[in-house]
Amino acid sequence: MAELMQRYIEKAENALLHTYNRYQVVLEKGDGVYLYDMEGKRYLDFAAGIAVFALGYGNQAYNDALKGQIDRLIHTSNYYYNAPAIEAAKKLKEVSGMDRVFFTNSGAEAVEGAIKAARKYAFLKDNSTDHEIIAMEHSFHGRTMGALSVTGTPKYREAFEPGIGNIRFAHMNDFDSVLACTNEKTCAIILETVQGEGGIYPAQKEFLEKIRALCDERDILLILDEIQCGMGRTGHMFAWQKYGVKPDIMTTAKALGCGVPVGAFLMTEKVGANSLKAGDHGTTYGGNPLACAAVCKVLDLFEKNHIIENVRSVSAYLEEKLDLLAAKYDCIQTRRGSGLMQGLAFSMPVGPVIEKALDAGLILINAGTNIIRFVPPLVIDRQNVDEMIAILDRCLS
Ligand SMILES: *Cc1c(COP(=O)(O)O)cnc(C)c1O
Repeated sequence: MAELMQRYIEKAENALLHTYNRYQVVLEKGDGVYLYDMEGKRYLDFAAGIAVFALGYGNQAYNDALKGQIDRLIHTSNYYYNAPAIEAAKKLKEVSGMDRVFFTNSGAEAVEGAIKAARKYAFLKDNSTDHEIIAMEHSFHGRTMGALSVTGTPKYREAFEPGIGNIRFAHMNDFDSVLACTNEKTCAIILETVQGEGGIYPAQKEFLEKIRALCDERDILLILDEIQCGMGRTGHMFAWQKYGVKPDIMTTAKALGCGVPVGAFLMTEKVGANSLKAGDHGTTYGGNPLACAAVCKVLDLFEKNHIIENVRSVSAYLEEKLDLLAAKYDCIQTRRGSGLMQGLAFSMPVGPVIEKALDAGLILINAGTNIIRFVPPLVIDRQNVDEMIAILDRCLS
């Protein structure tokens, strides 16, 4: 069987574009918070396909909803209405308090749409096209050209310059640096409420509040990227709800469909009425019945299974256990994060630790070279935390 897996990996290396250095595992099936490879080896999953599979694997109600929709209708295009998209948009409005929803196929596309909406809003005010957007250092907003242009990691952008232009980068949690980037051309400020890929850095409440006030004062749009930190992960449906700072535009994806590729950007009525109009934006797949059936079921199950309550109770336990681990090992500098989005910052590259954990049956991912990221399915319990900590402890000692 090991040979079988090896043969698949060789085939992969002959066919797939080499944009990832993958772990040497072919995953085959999932059950709850566990994944299995082709050899039947079991892994405790603390990555959830990068903060995606919130409900855990093999949730029957979710699977049945998708199967039912497949037999009814998978795709219609946006020239027609379809019931799952209408239901999904209504539910998303309810849980977010936003007013208008546009469904996309990925997170990056949601960011693209958010940028377009902000630019259009500014364009309609003064008919000019030289508006600027402020983004944060160490941010991550996706790999398409617009999303990449507001991503604050120079090495991701370097070979692909020029980006969309007129972007300024400020420092997360440093309001003065935001102020220094602001001028009469600023049309939007975009940030992740909790930075994910950049190393798990939550925004500070005061920082967000000051940005909100600045945006209100100057009619600048606040775009909060909730693609990773949203959908219950911080113990609130969206992380900004914890701060009480509402964006003008927000993005979501990752756990929104729990594995079915779907994202969305949402906006307030003020932006909706004064930005993108018929003909300004579109997508063939976005908001199709299959993806939106997933969104509907995910939001139903979040409520029915008290997912957010579980995040709140189990994340306190996870924090406690991670803090103990950080105290035990000198190589761990600090823990930071919010809810079930946690990071341990090491004084060394964490790649070898993650490899060891994988061997020992634990799936972890990094967020930058020195940070282990914990973004498990939101249905984990304390026993899963204990099991994870025990394996990680063994790998570190
Ligand atoms: C993953 C991510 C994206 C990009 O989403 P894709 O679906 O990979 O395009 C954008 N922003 C944040 C904060 C993310 O974590």
